[in-house]
Amino acid sequence: MALSAPLLVFGPRSTTYDFGSGHPLTPRRFGPGISLLETLGAVPNLAPEPASDAELEWIHDAAYLDVVKAFSREPLGPSRAGIGPGDTPAFAGMHEASAAVAGGSLRAMEAIKRGDVVHAFHPGGGLHHAMPARASGFCVYDDPALAIARARRDGLRVLYVDLDVHHGDGVQAIHWSDPGVMTVSIHETGLALFPGTGFPDELGGGDAVGTKVNLPLDPGTGERGWLAALELVLPVLAEAFQPEIVVSQHGADAHAFDPLAHLRVTTTAMGTAARLVDSLAHRWAGGRWLATGGGGYDVYRVVPRAWSQVWLAANHAPVPDAIPATWREQWAADAGRYDQAPIPATFDDPPNAGLPYRAADEAADARALRIAEQVLDLVLGHLRVP
Ligand SMILES: [Zn+2]
Repeated sequence: MALSAPLLVFGPRSTTYDFGSGHPLTPRRFGPGISLLETLGAVPNLAPEPASDAELEWIHDAAYLDVVKAFSREPLGPSRAGIGPGDTPAFAGMHEASAAVAGGSLRAMEAIKRGDVVHAFHPGGGLHHAMPARASGFCVYDDPALAIARARRDGLRVLYVDLDVHHGDGVQAIHWSDPGVMTVSIHETGLALFPGTGFPDELGGGDAVGTKVNLPLDPGTGERGWLAALELVLPVLAEAFQPEIVVSQHGADAHAFDPLAHLRVTTTAMGTAARLVDSLAHRWAGGRWLATGGGGYDVYRVVPRAWSQVWLAANHAPVPDAIPATWREQWAADAGRYDQAPIPATFDDPPNAGLPYRAADEAADARALRIAEQVLDLVLGHLRVP
């Protein structure tokens, strides 16, 4: 049976999630990002609309929605609930824009559950830091956690894989005590990077101990250590947990060029990881896979190519040899203006993103595999699958 093309979640509301000029999570990324997907034949076919209050309250406190709505009407005022000057500033229309991101991932999950598609990709989703009662780290409502909650309402066991360079703390916290949700986050260690959590001893609460998995990597870890860790733990954990649906977060900020973090992952490795997630969805979950975007602050050189890798994986399509010259020409001036030029000519990166290997990086890569081995032992010692 031929698989239908994946859903691509993007629409007019996607660019309204905008903390203002100068903020790193900029809607400028959708210009080069979506247009590069379109060169691959993608057509956005699910335009996000706001999730309802009742839906958002599956994972967020009603009082928190009231705070977000108040800022949405009147962005000025003292900081509350993680919203204010800094990482997550208020803006007019904040509630509707944030609820639309959540709605995009939620409707994509529903389409997968109905069997309309097996795969969906929501590049504007992946706001994994939002907590039940507060915003955090550019994230207002937690769209991956909401999509997972939707699947859980039907009793489906969910494997969540978080590849963003930052710990997926909000998703982990929201589903902390649910043994039907396994979260696996690989990230730069909280000793060096926001949000400062995501250590191996965070294993889940109550009956869920062993279903929350964290792989904290040293600064400098590159594609070899990052991929080796994922390739060791994900197949074993998927087999042990037996998910019925897979949700993944593909933040592009683990890349070597990213300005906000210190790993050295490549788009090549991101593509390999996306194909691993796809293969696990087919092996264990009937193919059901919702992929989201996430962080990623090198808007021209990295984010469009990282999103393309996810899209190609979801289409089971090979990586083309070259990026269309017309697309590179279209975005060259903007890339230069933001000091993110030149735009690479290929979807895959050269090894180590073309950077020299340093002795400290080699050590970090070796340590990543040891961390993964230790975490796997720890988790399998606790995990009890009903
Ligand atoms: Zn697939």
